[in-house]
Amino acid sequence: MASIADNIRRIRDRLRALETQYRRPPGSVELLAVSKTHPAALIREAFDAGQHAFGENYVQEALDKMDELALPQIVWHFIGPLQSNKTRDVAARFHWVHSVDRLRIAQRLSGQRPADLPPLNVLVQVNISGEASKSGVAPDEVDALCDAVAALPGIRLRGLMAIPAPGRDLEAQRRVYRPLAGQFEALRQRHATVDTLSAGMSDDHEAAIAEGSTLVRMGTALFGQRRPAAAD
Ligand SMILES: *Cc1c(COP(=O)(O)O)cnc(C)c1O
Repeated sequence: MASIADNIRRIRDRLRALETQYRRPPGSVELLAVSKTHPAALIREAFDAGQHAFGENYVQEALDKMDELALPQIVWHFIGPLQSNKTRDVAARFHWVHSVDRLRIAQRLSGQRPADLPPLNVLVQVNISGEASKSGVAPDEVDALCDAVAALPGIRLRGLMAIPAPGRDLEAQRRVYRPLAGQFEALRQRHATVDTLSAGMSDDHEAAIAEGSTLVRMGTALFGQRRPAAAD
């Protein structure tokens, strides 16, 4: 069986190859290791292999692993649905949040971000699959939400995130990502802090990179199949 270090090497090689294939600048696509449901020991293995950015979906599970690992070099990304009663812990312990889809949540994160920490990096989640998804702001509401989020003092607006419904093939997947990439480029023109398009998972990372993703969120390709999710 391939080790986690092998998987990381293989994925990094693949990201570099896709950058070349799709004429993206070298190093413009970063890897976020999605470690939800996996134990701290596997995160430690990935960390020792040079991976420093990790994504988690469940607040309590993530806090437990942060405490167990006690590795201040890790950059923690919250990528799951975020309820109001969990914002305080997220604001205090994470460096990034990918799943902001309403102003009220952003206001809470901003107000609860500890004053001794730099502003929380925030991505606005866009619903690019319509009815198929409950999460994310509708594409025609993205600009207004982003402008409001960018004005909050405890937050730094960094870009957009999306989780599309699974596409049949590369072309179908690219078609779904394309409008998102256009919206991201427009947002980047308006906000100097915007530099991150979080798009692509284990099964559709090629399409996302072809369309301009700067951060792919990969779990299964790196850690293998997930165990059943813990309740949050
Ligand atoms: C679980 C998850 C991923 C990782 O998915 P894989 O298919 O295992 O790569 C990426 N993004 C989000 C938001 C997730 O919840």
